[in-house]
Amino acid sequence: MGSTRTIRVAVIPGDGVGEEVAAAGRDVLEASAAASHGKFAFEWEEFPWGCQYYTDTGRMMAEDGLQQLRGFEAVYFGAVGWKSVPDHISLWGLRLAICQGFDQWVNIRPVRFLPGVTSPLRKADDTPLDWIVVRENSEGEYSGFGGRNLSARGDGQEVAVQSALFTEFGCERIIRFAFELARTRDRPKVTGVTKSNAQQFGMVLWDEVFDRVRRDYPDVDADSCLVDAMAARFVLQPESLSVVVASNLHGDVLSDLGSALAGSLGLAASANLNPERTAPSMFEPVHGSAPDIAGRGIANPIGAIGSGALMLRHLGLPDEAARIDRAIETTTAAGNLPPDLGGRTGTKDLTAAIIDNLDA
Ligand code: ATP
Repeated sequence: MGSTRTIRVAVIPGDGVGEEVAAAGRDVLEASAAASHGKFAFEWEEFPWGCQYYTDTGRMMAEDGLQQLRGFEAVYFGAVGWKSVPDHISLWGLRLAICQGFDQWVNIRPVRFLPGVTSPLRKADDTPLDWIVVRENSEGEYSGFGGRNLSARGDGQEVAVQSALFTEFGCERIIRFAFELARTRDRPKVTGVTKSNAQQFGMVLWDEVFDRVRRDYPDVDADSCLVDAMAARFVLQPESLSVVVASNLHGDVLSDLGSALAGSLGLAASANLNPERTAPSMFEPVHGSAPDIAGRGIANPIGAIGSGALMLRHLGLPDEAARIDRAIETTTAAGNLPPDLGGRTGTKDLTAAIIDNLDA
């Protein structure tokens, strides 16, 4: 047997349920490493960044935070946001700072329907549903360009401009990524999400790039859909979806809809990828800090645990990732469910059950 591969991971549990679900995900990843018979092991370093850190220091992360994270193979993230700090400060000061600072330009958000989980979609009862939202993660509506001014005109007269940035380079790389991903799936199909009827500059460029790139993939089915129609299609024709590629804002909204359709926001996993591997990628559940249930031990850890599986896949351990995904399925199929899915199992017990099922 060769020497053990040590994987150095930075953990940022963040706020609220972020701490509970990041701990759960770590436990499952540790169990996966322990079961690898010396193939790999984790070395974790935890960073206390988030809203409490902001209250203490006036910053969401250390000033040289990106430099501190750069040496790790991956970042494992819980959730960020608390009522003590305005949302736009907590989001831009930590999560978006990392995504943009490390050019994690792909956000993958699989929509998985699990056995034993009741979907609000009746169609899910007898139709296999499984699609992936590929969200542009570096520009679009979240590029951060704009400003506020003219408040000196008097009460009620301030002006704000928020610009969406669409570059041909940015559109091309995410759309091409989606087509490459589609080629690896049973159903090679990409649906591009647009709003080019109303947004005649950025989204028309997006559409033009989509039409150009799709010609390079004659083996992949492709169609385009306006974002409003896409919201309806998620509900009415979800079986028509395989890979859905969308701008930053559209992908954000649609993937929440997707996870709600799968049963709960607590189920959804995500990966923020730097595909060139010039910096670490970051793995996190889609949900936020859920202040309404934080600290009660009832948060659903499946989104965080599934994000850990995405991390293993990115690190070149697909079999181990698949094992975690199977353990999640075995657990939910047995009716072992957290409260947000109508069950009674708390975070720790559910995590322990998933770990037990790693061997199943
Ligand atoms: P953000 O803007 O950061 O996404 P938010 O407050 O809009 O935050 P969440 O924090 O994700 O959204 O919470 C939305 C709802 O989903 C809340 O009712 C919360 O309790 C529920 N929720 C989120 N995550 C979980 C989870 N892991 N387990 C159970 N319920 C969750």
